[in-house]
Amino acid sequence: TGRRSLPQAEAIIDLDAVVHNVRRLRDYAGDAAVMAVVKADAYNHGAVPVARAALAAGARELGVTTLAEGLELRAAGIDAPVLSWLHTVDADYAPAIAAGIELGVSSPRHLAAIVAAAESIGETAVITAKVDTGLNRNGVARDEWPEFVRDVARGQAAGAVRLRGLFSHLAHGDELGHPEIDSQRDRLHQAADDLRRASLPPEVVHLANSAATVTRPDLRFDMVRPGIAIYGLTPIPEQGDFGFRPAMTLRTRVALVKKVSAGSGVSYGHRWIAPADTTVALLPMGYADGIRRNLSGRIDVLLGGRRRPQLGRVCMDQVVVDLGPDGGGVQEGDEALFFGDGRLGEPGAQDWAELLDTINYEIVTGIGGRTVRTYV
Ligand code: PLP
Repeated sequence: TGRRSLPQAEAIIDLDAVVHNVRRLRDYAGDAAVMAVVKADAYNHGAVPVARAALAAGARELGVTTLAEGLELRAAGIDAPVLSWLHTVDADYAPAIAAGIELGVSSPRHLAAIVAAAESIGETAVITAKVDTGLNRNGVARDEWPEFVRDVARGQAAGAVRLRGLFSHLAHGDELGHPEIDSQRDRLHQAADDLRRASLPPEVVHLANSAATVTRPDLRFDMVRPGIAIYGLTPIPEQGDFGFRPAMTLRTRVALVKKVSAGSGVSYGHRWIAPADTTVALLPMGYADGIRRNLSGRIDVLLGGRRRPQLGRVCMDQVVVDLGPDGGGVQEGDEALFFGDGRLGEPGAQDWAELLDTINYEIVTGIGGRTVRTYV
């Protein structure tokens, strides 16, 4: 048996970390159930394996954006409750209804389309009302809410839909004390009351994302809806890691080691000039794989047991790293870590987010190109 050649660009997904993070979220959630948000291919960690790990760790439901994402879970044989919450009004709802995917509904027009789709296949669509409590993004607008509730009652009486849940999303979920949070919570309570008065009592009401789950017990309602914490990234960087463990490690392998003499420029534009003779390693990942060019000359890579500076410009397919004059014993084929959970001393996705003035969500979802995912 020959040694399997390892991928040049690899996102290693630690499913034990996912399990750990879901368990931790269950502790934070108290009596509330956990819906694991696995949209965007589980924040680029792989929806099906992450969903399975999250359910095994006690998540009760799964949340996705699109119908296609919901259908992917069903096609993999996952039969847990799945909620899909963002659709164009002309979406092809029938297959999702037939697959028992719960539909988040954000307007009377969307509701009408779902009713029509359910009637066309003679099934009842299970729906969750998404109410806009202040984010002013997706969700039933305030002025349409009374009409929406009436239409749901009518659709339910006709057997086309069954309202199961009610939810909303926070505008300031990561700003603990923001007064808008209280007002969104209160509006969600009011919306639940409206539904009860219309004889449409919701079985499950939910509001909290990761940040709210770990900081605001008053926002738990019946279920919490965390995403980023499942992947082990902190929802509130200023407040530490909340005991979550990053699940993604970005790894590559040294393609080439070479000497560079003092005064020579390295990589496009020669933005780095060797101050002295040195040895460099070429790593075969670049901006086509999600290592953003704005990181040029600003990151360290863990290689040969130490963090080493990346030199000059990040290219489409490769970056160069300084090994120092003696090469540090690094050899072609050695593994190099761009980011991970930090256990070996490598940077975290959060470090990249800070360098790029963005959020950790964008770092992990931005890895791609030729990167191969492997699960451990
Ligand atoms: N709920 C909804 C509606 C979302 O769009 C998201 C993601 O943005 C989440 C929950 C999960 O949020 P977070 O990843 O901040 O926990």
